[in-house]
Amino acid sequence: MSPEVFDKSAVEKSLRAVVDPSTRKDVVTLGMVKHIAVFEGAIRIVLELSPHAASLQDQLRNTVDRAVRQAAAVAHAKIDTLEIEFSAPKVAAPTQPAAATAQDQASNPLPNVKKIIAVGAGKGGVGKSTVAVNVAVGLARMGYAVGLLDADIYGPSAPTMLGMDEVGTRAKGQMLLPFELHGIKAMTIGKLVDPDKALVWRGPMAHGAFKQLATQTEWGELDYLIIDLPPGTGDVALTMAQMLPVAGAVVVCTPQRVAQDDARRAVRMFQNLGVEVLGVVENMSFFTAPDGKEYDLFGRGGAEIMAQTMGLPFLGSIPIHIALRENSDGGQPLANWKNTTMGASLDALCQRIEAQVKLAAMAGRTDRPTLTISP
Ligand code: ADP
Repeated sequence: MSPEVFDKSAVEKSLRAVVDPSTRKDVVTLGMVKHIAVFEGAIRIVLELSPHAASLQDQLRNTVDRAVRQAAAVAHAKIDTLEIEFSAPKVAAPTQPAAATAQDQASNPLPNVKKIIAVGAGKGGVGKSTVAVNVAVGLARMGYAVGLLDADIYGPSAPTMLGMDEVGTRAKGQMLLPFELHGIKAMTIGKLVDPDKALVWRGPMAHGAFKQLATQTEWGELDYLIIDLPPGTGDVALTMAQMLPVAGAVVVCTPQRVAQDDARRAVRMFQNLGVEVLGVVENMSFFTAPDGKEYDLFGRGGAEIMAQTMGLPFLGSIPIHIALRENSDGGQPLANWKNTTMGASLDALCQRIEAQVKLAAMAGRTDRPTLTISP
């Protein structure tokens, strides 16, 4: 039998079976269900529980877990991860400005970061990290305070691309100090975990690693935080969307048809997560030979057409350039601006991203992504 759709409303329905014996009311009716997020096989539920009832947490978690899994089994739906978390009821809004700041911090873990931009791709090897690094450095060259969070748990590139292989992390109390190099602040999961082990991570581990990386790094005041996500669709993007007020996502794609299909999936993932897609970048668009002749190795313009058909802005194309690869491998991103043509195309890309972020903000679309929220 084919699986039924096990979406937010199906999860909510299953929670109606979880009844408080004293009031005989279910947790949905009691208003205890604060969030339900469903993405592919990953489910996250947040229940509100007063601190006085904290002793009931384990029991409630088990009951909810059982109810959701039973309903999923009936629907022949597969659950990869099921996270059940508890939040305390919000207290009345404080009147003192200082207290208000404390409350902002509780709902936005990075209140000193003005705009968060995610960089994603449908699959690995298309130049997602190259774009993330060069956009971070390019925005810094434009005068912004920029951070780069390399959250690609399956293949962190920042240590190589920023030349920080040899440098160790430093901490101040509970906080990690970001690396300050090439005019930006950077932190990478590559310095915290062994990527070979991270390959098998799912759900809670990826969630925990991302949370630690994002919130326990001493970013200071930033205009932009660029997040280099793992390729494909998965747990880290879900965690990011739930946790941070992301201004938008940039999707990197190479021109080939097969790459476009993967990029489309990445676009849909961001849209499902409620993250605005700022646009598409075509990387490895064409190759310029030493004699200046241009070769369309992969079918130049393919990603631009994909962006158009999906109604998304096209943010620009980056050619295949030997220096780009050499400077990435050598950990010298600023050297990309020594080549005037390449520097100009990277600057144009940064300016279009900057413009799209402003447009999204004007349209009031940079609120915290909401996913499928209940009730
Ligand atoms: P991803 O993050 O999508 O896995 P990377 O950014 O790590 O991809 O790029 C993969 C490899 O391709 C790297 O060695 C990088 O230097 C190289 N590369 C990426 N874009 C270009 C380009 N436009 N020209 C030349 N080399 C590139």
